[in-house]
Amino acid sequence: MLMLVVIIQSINIFHLPRRGLEVIGSRAMLSYQEPLYRPPSEGNNLILQATLGCSNNRCTFCTMYRSKRFQIRPLDALLEEVDHAAVLWPDARRIFVADGDALVMPMDHWRPLLERLAQRFPRLQRVSCYARPGNLLKKTLGELAELRTLKLSLLYYGIESGYDPLLAIIEKGEGCDRMCEGLLKAAEAGLKVSATVVLGLGGTGLWKAHIDGTIELIHRVPLHYLSTLQLMMDPSLESHFIGRFPGGFQFQDDNAILDEQHRLLAGIIQPPRPIIFRSNHASNALALAGNLPRDQQRLLGEIDAARGDGEGVRPFWMRGL
Ligand code: SF4
Repeated sequence: MLMLVVIIQSINIFHLPRRGLEVIGSRAMLSYQEPLYRPPSEGNNLILQATLGCSNNRCTFCTMYRSKRFQIRPLDALLEEVDHAAVLWPDARRIFVADGDALVMPMDHWRPLLERLAQRFPRLQRVSCYARPGNLLKKTLGELAELRTLKLSLLYYGIESGYDPLLAIIEKGEGCDRMCEGLLKAAEAGLKVSATVVLGLGGTGLWKAHIDGTIELIHRVPLHYLSTLQLMMDPSLESHFIGRFPGGFQFQDDNAILDEQHRLLAGIIQPPRPIIFRSNHASNALALAGNLPRDQQRLLGEIDAARGDGEGVRPFWMRGL
């Protein structure tokens, strides 16, 4: 999620009434405090807003939750909302728990929430949420395994970069070793991770280090899904974002972004497990989809074609968040 603003995950925004429940088509939608973001892959699923905002809310490229003060919603209200949603959408199979890093909720929120979801949605297969590095580090392996048993099975996680100095510049909050520690714990607990990397984040000066560090990180942790987004900057953030780069910052153009994409995919040779890769978010110059490492050569060929004559490159006016 997510994100001219940079979006972390491929995120879309809903505009819904602030109160009550509404039936859209045959689907029940809860009321949400806007803005609400969710991964594109959750577009057909029930969304439950258990937290508001992001508990970090500091990443210098991200405006997603700047208008919200982070809070965990009261459990009673949340459980009541689950009951209402179950009346209107009893056959929901997949549920996304918002907002920005809902994994931060303590176990005495998660446990009753997931138990209630299992009770009210008999066909429930999967619960998912966004997670930050710090969320994973603060939960024990046993707690994560318990969440998995209760059907929380997929985490959307913004790696952004695998280059420590860049992570510090953007104020991500954790470095690579700590990210790996958390992601390995998630894997051991049986949780799948869908990770995102932001192309262009290091600008013209740090791009190689950004990509090479990211390749290294990807080889240290078993990711199920990986997607790349392209840096798009909200003008309100630009001066602060740029000001934190000691050597200055120059944005990458599309050709340079394609170079980044090429270097990244060429470098993913032997990840710990096969990765489903996508760069189909609306922010990207070039949409790609495949499995890594199996489809590496085809994907590199598509990037080469785009670099040569612009084949497949999305016009700038068609891009968005
Ligand atoms: S962790 Fe950073 S990038 Fe993700 S929502 Fe929070 S502030 Fe934005």
